[in-house]
Amino acid sequence: MPIIVHLIGRWWQLLPSTGAKPPGLRCAPSESLRPRSEGEREEHTWRVQRPQAALGGRRLPCPFAVFLHHPRPAVESLPAAGPRRAPHLHPSAHVRGIGQHPHRGFETVTLVYEGEVSHRDSTGAGGTIGPGDVQWMTAASGILHEEFHSPAFSQRGGTLDMVQLWVNLPARDKQRAPGYQSLDASTIPVVPLADGAGQLRVIAGTFEGCQGPARTHTPMDVWDLRLNAGAHVSLPAIEGWTTVVVVLKGEVRLNAGDTVGPAQFAMFERHGQSIQVDAISDATLLLLGGEPIDEPLVGHGPFVMNSATEIAQAMADFNTGRFGQIPA
Ligand code: MN
Repeated sequence: MPIIVHLIGRWWQLLPSTGAKPPGLRCAPSESLRPRSEGEREEHTWRVQRPQAALGGRRLPCPFAVFLHHPRPAVESLPAAGPRRAPHLHPSAHVRGIGQHPHRGFETVTLVYEGEVSHRDSTGAGGTIGPGDVQWMTAASGILHEEFHSPAFSQRGGTLDMVQLWVNLPARDKQRAPGYQSLDASTIPVVPLADGAGQLRVIAGTFEGCQGPARTHTPMDVWDLRLNAGAHVSLPAIEGWTTVVVVLKGEVRLNAGDTVGPAQFAMFERHGQSIQVDAISDATLLLLGGEPIDEPLVGHGPFVMNSATEIAQAMADFNTGRFGQIPA
């Protein structure tokens, strides 16, 4: 069994309101969407939580790059650090979210557990995803997109629970055309686990012969698991691959050793062929497995590239309008 090599503490960095722009980008392109007052900002923006701070700023191991729990609405007053919990949103006439912004060099994978998120991008793709749905967006050579609560969800309010994973692309794919896969919950295989342990949804990769719907650029598994309290499962791991377990709800014991709870990540060494999971309580977790991409990685704001030169090029291209535009 691969041992846990890094356990990230129960701690999430609360990033500044997303009205802020990454350094070096000339302007947030959607001036019309930018809140004009602090009150409006509170109504309109999301905040993003991510665990990287607990890693000393390091990224997740390749091919994964960043993990975000977002959005957390700025309206909530929260301690700067604390366990992840899904925010409850009051009904609002405004749609909240993040206006137009660019990405290049990687993919964003958005999983919605509760609530609804709408998306539009410069390829002309768009749509609303709800509980169980996944949006797999390939930024590749460059995309502009916006991410909001759906108008219907904003109006009715409720619990919003979603996470976003950034998946790196190998250098050979970073300049490909951007793309968008909307993975409806009905297309994601649900595999019952033995002995009533729970279920596993195959978003990408394969589990027990079931193939997930996501098309990926490098081999990887993205599995969404619900385990019942007391369950014991053995999950396959691939020798040489990166393996990360993210606990979203509940508490589990991994490899008969460490107990891992909400907002904790466990990263494993790349040796061994299975991971044992004992559910101490009902639990929701993600298992991310992937073939490492053995290339230099330089990330800055919304770009994940192979060199500082490519980051500078991405900023220049965005600042001169070469990322296209979102159709009206
Ligand atoms: Mn984005």
